[in-house]
Amino acid sequence: MLFGSIEAGGTKFVCAIGDENYNIKDSIHIPTTTPEETLGKCVEYFQKFIDIKAIGIASFGPIEVRVDNPKYGYITDTPKKHWSNTNFLGTMKKYFDIPMYWTTDVNGSAYGEYITSIKNHKPIHSLVYYTIGTGVGAGIVDNGHFLGYVGHPEAGHVRLKRAKGDEDFKGVCPYHGDCLEGLASGPTFNARTGKNGKDVPLTDPSWDYVAYYVAQAVVQATLFVRPERIILGGGVVSEPFLDMVRKHFKKIFNNYLAIDDLNEYIQMPQVPHNGSATVGNFSLALKQYYKENIVKI
Ligand code: ZN
Repeated sequence: MLFGSIEAGGTKFVCAIGDENYNIKDSIHIPTTTPEETLGKCVEYFQKFIDIKAIGIASFGPIEVRVDNPKYGYITDTPKKHWSNTNFLGTMKKYFDIPMYWTTDVNGSAYGEYITSIKNHKPIHSLVYYTIGTGVGAGIVDNGHFLGYVGHPEAGHVRLKRAKGDEDFKGVCPYHGDCLEGLASGPTFNARTGKNGKDVPLTDPSWDYVAYYVAQAVVQATLFVRPERIILGGGVVSEPFLDMVRKHFKKIFNNYLAIDDLNEYIQMPQVPHNGSATVGNFSLALKQYYKENIVKI
């Protein structure tokens, strides 16, 4: 059986075709321009394949996730130019009358990590997946379910204690200034140093600030959710950065609860090459396919 995946990001869409074992058969990158152009190219891509059973869509947000809401399947009020009030799911449904699973980009990634852990016979029952890239967000899977009913978690916009030396930085979030996203997303490196994060040496204090803020977010996620694992993905994250986060976490958390092995608790994604969302989407598409077909019987 063939399934489709759309990982809709702020800079690019990754569309893919895979099988019921979540193996990628084909994939394409489409730049995120306008909804008409980008969604048009997604439609064209999937039209090349016959007999796709279902599609999993993991989108940047905010999105409407309540099935009984008239705006279900929409990207709602996003600061991303052209994309506010976009009927994403409805557009796809117009061309493909098949089951579709609709969720956030980070939920797609979180689910990909969850399902991969089961496939590898090392199940992680509860996890929080943070992406730290152009924006910051978190997807939360708890025993196979996503957290959130009225909406999805917006963990990128929590407030934090400011790092010493970084107090004057105003932050880049258009809504809050110095929330987590405003202080720790990729664009904060440009705002602080005038350079892209990848060109800023790890010895620069901005890396330590960002690690300190992310560590505080990990502390909050630990206290609120008590997950088995926190996964940090996205363009800002690397192994040396993770070590900085673990160091700050240890200091802030101060052994309040027993965590056996921090190296295992705070980890990079298991799925390589930023592929977590694609795996998650295939799996969610399969889930939706069974759900809708059982209902029909
Ligand atoms: Zn914010």
